[in-house]
Amino acid sequence: MTVTYVPSEKATPRPRFRPAVIMHGGAGNIERSRIPPELYEKYRASLLKYLRSTLALLNGEQGESGDGNDGSPGSALDAAVHAVSLMEDDEIFNCGRGSVFTTTGTHEMEASVMVCSLLPESQGSADVKRAQVKRGAGVMMIKNVRHPVQLAREVLLRDGEDDAGKHGGSMHSHLCGPYVEALAKEWGLEFKPDEWFFTQKRWDEHIRGLGKGATIDHDGAPESIQEINKYLSQGTVGCVCLDQWGNIAAATSTGGLTNKLPGRIGDTPTLGAGFWAESWDAPDSSSRRALGMSGTGNGDSFVRVAAAHSAASLVKLGTKVSLADAVTAIAGPGGELQRSAGPRWGKTGEGSGGIIGIEAEVPSNAEDGQNEGLLKGKVVFDFNGGGMIRAWTEEDADGVLRERMMVFRDEYYN
Ligand code: ASP
Repeated sequence: MTVTYVPSEKATPRPRFRPAVIMHGGAGNIERSRIPPELYEKYRASLLKYLRSTLALLNGEQGESGDGNDGSPGSALDAAVHAVSLMEDDEIFNCGRGSVFTTTGTHEMEASVMVCSLLPESQGSADVKRAQVKRGAGVMMIKNVRHPVQLAREVLLRDGEDDAGKHGGSMHSHLCGPYVEALAKEWGLEFKPDEWFFTQKRWDEHIRGLGKGATIDHDGAPESIQEINKYLSQGTVGCVCLDQWGNIAAATSTGGLTNKLPGRIGDTPTLGAGFWAESWDAPDSSSRRALGMSGTGNGDSFVRVAAAHSAASLVKLGTKVSLADAVTAIAGPGGELQRSAGPRWGKTGEGSGGIIGIEAEVPSNAEDGQNEGLLKGKVVFDFNGGGMIRAWTEEDADGVLRERMMVFRDEYYN
């Protein structure tokens, strides 16, 4: 069941964008030897299916049956939450159903959403307009909620204004644990029993990871740590969408790190660390700019360097810095995240990760119906390890929108 607090509205005539999508399914210690062709094909099939469905939603096209798309154009927020919800049901990813275990063998899921808009007053999408009041929200230490990302969306939209704070609405951006789970119940979100979240693969990783703890305690043997790190799963998911009205939304969801301590809060639900979205008027008033990002990797490192917000600030406060350059400076090879690990880089998993994002700009003088064709956003990504599982839409030389999916820097079959 999808719970929608504020229904989306139909399009209004305004500078129109060509919708764009980028999604990730984890980054970090990813090597070809650990992704055999069958596994690669699984990632590919899943991501491309969800990418198509999300794009169809943004374009107001009828998607595949059962994907929740009723045929009217969805907002960036609808679409990003839709994409992440699909991944939360797919065991292959470390989120929702496929979440990893804590040291005590429990699940503590985390998710977030954030929006911004190129329109000073978001038009054409009531949910984004509403969401801009709070801008972003993260939920932490969540158990049994089938779609944590939908809970994050509810927390974002329920700012307490309509119901004077009754029914759990508030201006809080971060909510965790049993209290927000109770709100999820009140708000009609779907719950699943513990068994639904049990997967053998994650349990095996958990058991193997506990062995790693013993190794560190006794002699800190770096070789074995590296060896075992190879098996600790990646698979946090995220999606950034640009809708036809010029709204950008980022949604991210994770089970966290395998064998994290109970109560540990990572980057995925933390504003500015594992995600960010922001729009602003250029200082010379020539345009309005917007960007959204979602990250994946070692969350403690993302928190330490406020990764997503740092990248956004490079764009906002720098002189002609593109989001692509900013993402590379933070999450690319040798970037801020990698540097933050110091001598532990490559040994402990610290600093590893990647970021996806979309940036878009609208000239200040653009008025209804004046722009020729559709304005376009730019999809970007970078990562500092062996790979990042990702899919995105890209225009080819003839202006045709293509779907792309990659894990490594090069195509898998090179
Ligand atoms: N960032 C997530 C965390 O540290 C894990 C991941 O992206 O793989 O919780």
